Amino acid sequence: MRMIFIGPPGAGKGTQAARLVDKYKIPHISTGDMFRAAVKAGTPMGQEADRYMKSGQLVPDEVTIGLVRERFAQPDTQAGFMLDGFPRTVPQAEALSEALTADGVQLDTVLLLEVPDRLIVDRIIGRRSDPETGEIYHLTFNPPPPEVSDRLVHRKDDTEEAVRSRLEAYHKMTAPIIPFYETSGLLQRVNGVGTPDEVTAVITSTLT
Ligand code: ADP
Ligand code: ADP
Repeated sequence: MRMIFIGPPGAGKGTQAARLVDKYKIPHISTGDMFRAAVKAGTPMGQEADRYMKSGQLVPDEVTIGLVRERFAQPDTQAGFMLDGFPRTVPQAEALSEALTADGVQLDTVLLLEVPDRLIVDRIIGRRSDPETGEIYHLTFNPPPPEVSDRLVHRKDDTEEAVRSRLEAYHKMTAPIIPFYETSGLLQRVNGVGTPDEVTAVITSTLT
């Protein structure tokens, strides 16, 4: 299964992607996670990415496409993948199509997780993640168990100010890839409003 997950920041892509990769036994490729790992490791690419991420802007296409190309060179992607948070611009979508065509493979589906802007801010402000397990929590909607609460991380771009920029970037730069995939007949719209289990049920029925 080769699929991509698009949707606004905080829509629940990471939460749902984690469930899908378990089910389909495919690698979860999150460009956001890869950038955060590079920032933490202090690599030159991480330092460059950090400048954009902090303020909620997109990392330039050349850097992002290079990162994904490197990841695709690893053999575990041959049997399938879940791309979460990539592509986010039309040039990224074009680069992905070219890379897949060169490999003689095609995408199976593009899931668009739709959540209105007015629900996004609350989802993002309350997000916390567990660096040890990768689990994503929400202070209200998916409360963490008390024993992990001391080690939870609040992302520095999960502030109200950065969320506004991220939403703006989504509408300006990412939404234009929707017609790109609609034309190719791959796009599946999924209502992201509801409990995480309800959304999983909608996705599962969409994929069968
Ligand atoms: P979310 O879905 O919560 O917005 P991500 O973890 O996917 O967050 O991304 C965090 C940040 O990493 C983005 O705001 C952006 O700065 C950068 N980033 C991630 N993926 C891409 C991408 N495909 N293109 C450009 N920048 C990206
Ligand atoms: P994304 O990867 O799209 O940025 P996440 O999966 O990290 O989104 O979810 C953002 C926040 O919203 C997290 O705190 C998560 O626990 C919470 N969340 C995810 N799905 C739902 C849902 N269906 N209803 C309410 N909160 C949700």
